[in-house]
Amino acid sequence: MEKLLSLVVPAFNEEEAMEQSFERTYRAMSSIGYPFEIIYIDDGSRDRTWEIISRLAREHEEVKALRFSRNFGHQLAVTAGMDEAKGDAVIIMDADLQDPPEVIADMVKAWEQGADIAYGKRMHRKGETAAKKLTAWCYYRLLNFMSAYPIPLDTGDFRLLDKGVADEFKVLREHNRFLRGMSAWLGYNAVPVEYVREERCAGKTKYTLKKMLRLAADGIFGFSSRPLTLIGWACGAVHSPARAYRYHSLCRRNRRSRVALGGVRPGAAGWCDTVRNGRAGGLYAAHLRRGKGEAPLHNKRKAKLSLSKVCERKVKKDDRSEDQDTCKKPHRLFLRRKAR
Ligand code: UDP
Ligand code: MG
Repeated sequence: MEKLLSLVVPAFNEEEAMEQSFERTYRAMSSIGYPFEIIYIDDGSRDRTWEIISRLAREHEEVKALRFSRNFGHQLAVTAGMDEAKGDAVIIMDADLQDPPEVIADMVKAWEQGADIAYGKRMHRKGETAAKKLTAWCYYRLLNFMSAYPIPLDTGDFRLLDKGVADEFKVLREHNRFLRGMSAWLGYNAVPVEYVREERCAGKTKYTLKKMLRLAADGIFGFSSRPLTLIGWACGAVHSPARAYRYHSLCRRNRRSRVALGGVRPGAAGWCDTVRNGRAGGLYAAHLRRGKGEAPLHNKRKAKLSLSKVCERKVKKDDRSEDQDTCKKPHRLFLRRKAR
């Protein structure tokens, strides 16, 4: 049986672009030589986009039209389209012709030669402001530095996925999706297909600054544990002076508390705390990382051991029952001292 290609195209308020986008896309898909379907997803448009898409679906048997009840965002629109796709290869493309549909033929060639993923690599971006180019350039490099899985530089979601890979996406159901990151995380044999990103054929970008920042944050927080580790250490560093100050106050007010600290000087106790809290933050990050399948198993054991050691030490400290209150509840001690 001949293989089927599924093209997934999300569209949000694209009435100006839809007609010419469809014509060029239809021509490009027909020239490849495989049977194909084009799945348009109207992401809650408030203009005539749905009207155009539903007409195209009536006129062409290759066109399927889906409509969201409201604007859920580009990444979820693509996901809905991928769920609907029946093809042996699924291609994701924007509706504004910035991803030239003619490049799909090159992606299909790469797929025929054994690639599981053929991703579009932008060699040049036409018609975009210098600020957007610079922020995109910086962002992808930062993302790669943060991420544990290399996400190819200067790529978007314009790509072809083999059915096997597309099926894997159906298993991953997170809400805050960052498809290009998920694609990198899945691995497989991914090959770049170079292209020049064109100007938008009509209308304005539908990615507002807020949407763009949310996507950027999803990329960084969803595919990197470094922010967690940094936050862990930062919490430790902020928490420790407070602890050091508490020990210091205790020692000044009660000489016996030095015994409770096991003869440790208050300043040293503060520094030990800094390291311990920082380490605890790091361990917490390691635990969360494991949720993403990133950290190796031995870290898990290490984390458990270290935490149990901390607990043991606490128990031992508490065994010196005479000073138990001194260590754990300084405020009660102060009250008693004052009362005397
Ligand atoms: N899009 C969408 N929902 C949104 C925003 C955008 O479906 O909330 C679609 C949009 O119609 C286009 C694609 O996603 O087909 C890429 O959007 P856009 O071209 O505005 O982004 P840019 O290329 O400027 O980053
Ligand atoms: Mg665009």
